[in-house]
Amino acid sequence: MLPKENQENVIKVCQELIKVKSYSGKEGQVVEKLKSIFNDLGFDSFYVDEYGNIVGCIKGNKPGKRVLFDAHIDTVEVADSSKWTVDPFGGEIIDGKIYGRGTSDMKGALSAMLCGVSNFAKRSNKEFEGELYVAGVVHEECFEGVASRKISERVKPDYVVIGEASECSLKIGQRGRAEIIVETYGKPAHSANPQKGINAVYKASKLIDKIRKMEMSYDEELGHGILELVDIKSSPYPGASVVPDYCRITYDRRLLVGETKEEVLKPVLDLIEEIKKDDPEFNAKAFYARGEEKCYTGEKISDERFFPAWKYSREDDFVKECYSSLKELGLNPIITYYSFCTNGSHYAGEAGIKTIGFGPSRENLAHTIDEHIEIHELIKATVGYESICEALLK
Ligand SMILES: [Zn+2]
Repeated sequence: MLPKENQENVIKVCQELIKVKSYSGKEGQVVEKLKSIFNDLGFDSFYVDEYGNIVGCIKGNKPGKRVLFDAHIDTVEVADSSKWTVDPFGGEIIDGKIYGRGTSDMKGALSAMLCGVSNFAKRSNKEFEGELYVAGVVHEECFEGVASRKISERVKPDYVVIGEASECSLKIGQRGRAEIIVETYGKPAHSANPQKGINAVYKASKLIDKIRKMEMSYDEELGHGILELVDIKSSPYPGASVVPDYCRITYDRRLLVGETKEEVLKPVLDLIEEIKKDDPEFNAKAFYARGEEKCYTGEKISDERFFPAWKYSREDDFVKECYSSLKELGLNPIITYYSFCTNGSHYAGEAGIKTIGFGPSRENLAHTIDEHIEIHELIKATVGYESICEALLK
């Protein structure tokens, strides 16, 4: 399927990337490594932007569409390396698998993209119409889609391929994600005389009950929209002998296609108004959580935590082209949807760029102890990316 020399090459690239630790916000060293990999693999050029994303490019001999391959280069941390049976940064190969933090999520995919694009350019002698980009993106793990905005602004891709694990199947959508904060305010009092205060937790519980009964929308492919309480805290904390005057609740909201920031928050705000009518002491606010992260370049990224859903149809031409090219390779992909949130939230959800997901390995290997990737999957993905280049630039 893939010549032996090319197989060895993608394995080597993957091992090299695993050996460089790159936790979110600390991706500087792996970016240095990628500079030399882009050079070795014959990319025409690369640049690093303010956030520290690195993007390499190979241009065909004729102008045409731009295809961007997106892989995040940050990984979650290794909480306790003594629980691993191998060195999480060793890139060791055992029984046909490469081990290490980020192998499945998602340095394996990145290696396959780098090699797949390079193989395509070499094989075609750059006799193709268009431009190919591979992006190593920072800060995906807790802030998906935000760093990608810088990349799409500059590259202006016609198509994006997300490399998150899909077991080499095609993904054509995902639910989005938002984090909603609800705060209720009361009045402190000694708990020996609670009638003198207003208990913010009791007030919150009224709202919690109503939110729980809210009806959520449904999408045949993506499933139900979700609004789930994920944490609650009161103040003062820990409390003793005092009626809490503040309560803060976090909701995880899973979004369906077309749900906007305003629409999603409105029913919660309406419930607050409804309760206020019956209870003049009720005082609450609801808003989106704001994330702020520091990049290794010193730049800050911050925004509200709202990452829209996206979905394409199996009948869309670009989906069909990719599908049949993978099928011709004998990969037999099935077409489904990601169950988690990816950088596709930006490309497809915010920017409306035609996006598919295709990546090696299984999503349930991400973030695990003894994370690994099967070499077989890595190779399948490498030829898969090569054929996607051909399919999209046809
Ligand atoms: Zn990932």
